[in-house]
Amino acid sequence: MTNQLKGKSAIITGAGSGIGKGIAQAFVDAEASVILVDINQKKLVDTKKDLEAINSKVSVYTFTADLSKSSSYKEVVEESVHKLGTVDILVNCAGIYPSTPALDITEDEWDQLFDLNLKGYFFLCQNVAKQMVKQDTGGSIINITSTASEVARPGVAHYCASKSGVKMMTQVLALEWAEYGIRINALGPGLVETDTLLNTLSTEKAKQEHVEKLSYCPMGRTALTEEIASGVLFFASDSSMYATGQTLFIDGGYSAGRFFKN
Ligand code: NAD
Repeated sequence: MTNQLKGKSAIITGAGSGIGKGIAQAFVDAEASVILVDINQKKLVDTKKDLEAINSKVSVYTFTADLSKSSSYKEVVEESVHKLGTVDILVNCAGIYPSTPALDITEDEWDQLFDLNLKGYFFLCQNVAKQMVKQDTGGSIINITSTASEVARPGVAHYCASKSGVKMMTQVLALEWAEYGIRINALGPGLVETDTLLNTLSTEKAKQEHVEKLSYCPMGRTALTEEIASGVLFFASDSSMYATGQTLFIDGGYSAGRFFKN
């Protein structure tokens, strides 16, 4: 256990599973108090139990919210302040990544993805930043993007566009909010071994495509959630106190070599 985040309060979205849960585990291990936000209440209950087993000394709260809905952003911040007193860190991680050929993407599917993956990220950043300005204590915001923000792949036009948007939005907000002591960075994972990712591998064709994708990764394997969480911890803590507006790719070297193949 480290105490890098001792005394800090963090909101982590998408904390019910996968990468968000891994981040929450790393944060309580680093002694942060956390509020876990997710649309899935059952997953939140399970995550809370797991986190309390890691560190019973910090506070772990949960809040069920649909972050694609405009009504949720203010509520999340109000609930966080009510429970934690202050908000020092926000991690925007909740996201969806359906795969649909561009000719078949409907307007509904496009809107659903953007409402969560981009609009949701922006308005939660904005509401949290307003709270941080009011506190006058600065803060750190980390947005989870993806190698899909940089490297185009067929079947995910909406996803790639949303993650590129997150990366650029992070850069703009870094310029606007540095004067308030708010640092904002993005972290782009490559392929990460989460249940959602594994569930997409149900057919032989999907498995073959996965193996093909991995052949473009110099390290030749998927990441564990804790390998992504350690990068988020870096941005959340004072170890990165002069870093803002950056995107760190933790992807086994995938985005470093566009034409590399194992
Ligand atoms: P996941 O499905 O395991 O976790 C996402 C969480 O978000 C779930 O707990 C889900 O309930 C929650 N969620 C979904 N819709 C929501 C909504 N409307 N409101 C609130 N919560 C909602 O996914 P993951 O693989 O851990 O991905 C997390 C993030 O990392 C996403 O933003 C994803 O785009 C990004 N990412 C994942 C990978 C990967 O390989 N797994 C790679 C790059 C980027």
